Amino acid sequence: MISESKMEKIISLAKRRGFVYPGSEIYGGLAGTWDYGPLGAEMMYNIKDTWWKKFVASRDDMYGIASSIMMSEQVWAASGHLKHFTDPLEGKKFNTMFKSKAGALKDETTEVYLRPELAQGMFVNFKNIVDSFHPKIPFGIAQIGRCFRNEISPRDFLFRVREFDLMEFEYFIRPASQQGGEKDWEKYFEYWRKKMWDWIKEVGIDEKKVHELEVPKNELAHYSKRTIDFQYDFPFGKKELYGLAYRTDHDLKNHKLDYYDEDTKERFVPHVIEPTFGIGRTLLALLDSAYIEDELGGEKRVFLRLKPHIAPIKVAVFPLLKNKPELVKKAKEVYEMIKKDPPDGEAGIHSTMFDDNGNIGKRYRRQDEIGTPYCITIDFETLEKDDVTVRDRDTGKQERVKIDELTNILKKLIFKKE
Ligand code: ATP
Repeated sequence: MISESKMEKIISLAKRRGFVYPGSEIYGGLAGTWDYGPLGAEMMYNIKDTWWKKFVASRDDMYGIASSIMMSEQVWAASGHLKHFTDPLEGKKFNTMFKSKAGALKDETTEVYLRPELAQGMFVNFKNIVDSFHPKIPFGIAQIGRCFRNEISPRDFLFRVREFDLMEFEYFIRPASQQGGEKDWEKYFEYWRKKMWDWIKEVGIDEKKVHELEVPKNELAHYSKRTIDFQYDFPFGKKELYGLAYRTDHDLKNHKLDYYDEDTKERFVPHVIEPTFGIGRTLLALLDSAYIEDELGGEKRVFLRLKPHIAPIKVAVFPLLKNKPELVKKAKEVYEMIKKDPPDGEAGIHSTMFDDNGNIGKRYRRQDEIGTPYCITIDFETLEKDDVTVRDRDTGKQERVKIDELTNILKKLIFKKE
């Protein structure tokens, strides 16, 4: 028998357990599209939420936006994408932007493009942000959103698809002429390089599998003066996970935008440092980093060692036996208590699952396989002492905890900062 590759195992787990399904599957699928199921969607929101808090909401110098996916042809003419956003196909250049028409009447339609990157959304709103908020340079404009690329050959699961979500910001800095001898771009490039590593650790990507690649000058994108690719050892090879680019003043200059510094009374075109994070590639790297086959109590198991704040389900609650109504009733109460805490929906655990199917060992295995960090079991002792067992996914160890302390203890375990 041919043994399954790690990639096949990840894809099959993702489908079977409701992380990721092939797009349009009941009609034979549509190349380059994947649909996130309930667990994948939870994980995706956890990734987005962690990113937004880290890079936008907790900072003083970042402005978050959500711009349109359809953008005017003129945007892409100015940015250079109409000319340069191409892949080689039979000796010719194939533009990988998706083009469409907006409007119903033939002579009133406008050609539009589905954005292939987020960055132009930030650049075309640069003046709006400056006018509304008067930010002092340096500052950033950030967004999370969907991009579309007509990839010639989509492949490798979530790695190369035709529509995907990105998390990205443009960080505006002074040009060299304004920097009093010091090169701001080098300083901020280094600053964001380090922050990207912090993110990699925080989200739980195996950092030993991440490598920086200095992109050679002749391979730089048309807008970039320096780019570092953060590559990851995917099961199919070492490939780009994230990018960090110095986009110079290419975009703002082409959109004829500039900045007036109230303090120095100078007008100039800011330069830009751009960190980009692909969400699909993050999710794939996380599944790969977290996927572990080991033995626990003499039994083989598969488990996902996801960080609790990224895991789709944080807590599972079981009655020891399905056919004992008093255990089931108590387990339902504990389940409701955790899932609905606090009742107004603020900063609680929420993502909790109830399971009374099969024996307890099987339930543990099912939760291990989707990365649930804590399993709670309600047994006969619970009925007497009002405590439950809390089982740790990684070690299989169990501890008894009083029900009235349970939610707070779980919250501390799940949301602790490492
Ligand atoms: P590649 O060389 O792999 O095509 P790229 O250099 O074109 O990538 P960028 O333009 O730098 O990629 O895109 C920024 C980020 O967007 C990448 O780091 C990656 O995380 C993500 N990304 C790009 N293309 C795809 C795709 N087809 N599917 C999924 N994610 C993608």
